[in-house]
Amino acid sequence: MSQRLKNYEVICKIGQGSFGTVFKVRRKSDKIILVMKTIKVQSLSKKCQQESVSEVTILSSLSCPYIVKYYESFVENSILHIIMEYCEKGDLSQLIKKQMLPENKIWKYFIQTCLGLEYLHSKQILHRDVKALNIFLTNDDSIRIGDLGVAKILNNTACFAQTQVGSPYYLSPELCEEKPYNTKSDVWALGCVLYEMCTTKHPFTAPNQAALLLKIVKGCYMPLSTEFSPGIREIVDLLLEKDYKKRPSIQAVLTRTDIENKISDSG
Ligand code: ADP
Ligand code: MG
Repeated sequence: MSQRLKNYEVICKIGQGSFGTVFKVRRKSDKIILVMKTIKVQSLSKKCQQESVSEVTILSSLSCPYIVKYYESFVENSILHIIMEYCEKGDLSQLIKKQMLPENKIWKYFIQTCLGLEYLHSKQILHRDVKALNIFLTNDDSIRIGDLGVAKILNNTACFAQTQVGSPYYLSPELCEEKPYNTKSDVWALGCVLYEMCTTKHPFTAPNQAALLLKIVKGCYMPLSTEFSPGIREIVDLLLEKDYKKRPSIQAVLTRTDIENKISDSG
């Protein structure tokens, strides 16, 4: 077995996720700061461990300014290690808790997230866990969509017992009805993130999961305040369309004239 772990020096633990631990590390060869996510895979067969590594290998071939860059992955001591870009400014959820975002900031982050998702969808990759906690910010105030590998890997039913990967707040009506995940389910989750950026609240909340699913399936949420521009209110309504067949694709969202104008304005 290769010894790649020794190429990294652990600086500190950043956090504990539902499936693994996240560390800030330094790559010894060039002193670059990166993130290492570790996931215990000892219960998996060698074949399944290998499949997890190949999944991350696919991710490391992706190249988009709005997607967290994946470097490498390896299994050592029965732990899957995933090495990726470090996003210094934390995640969108932390930012939303700290301050109300002005509408121009919301547009900027929203459009960058759309561009990242459009890239993934164009490669037939579903994110499956789009949420404010998985959208990161860098020092130059641009967003990076993260945590893509893990959702996909953990959804590999052949290897892992099927668990609900996503947060229930972002579940789309079709998922509540146990229909298969599709690109439009990512679009719904993006609608939830946009709503959260505007209001600091989830569009659908309830005291328990059963009540939450019921609300989502009905598709009733408190509309955005009229202090927001008609453009942004209309997009929230489009993304939170409960029928996924009527919900726009990411590409359709990006070709709306108001968004195209904002993209060309920002260069
Ligand atoms: P979860 O299972 O809740 O999605 P994660 O394992 O993805 O948790 O993340 C755990 C913690 O590590 C979170 O606080 C998250 O913000 C942070 N984190 C994950 N990836 C990165 C990254 N690439 N850069 C900076 N922080 C990260
Ligand atoms: Mg995460």
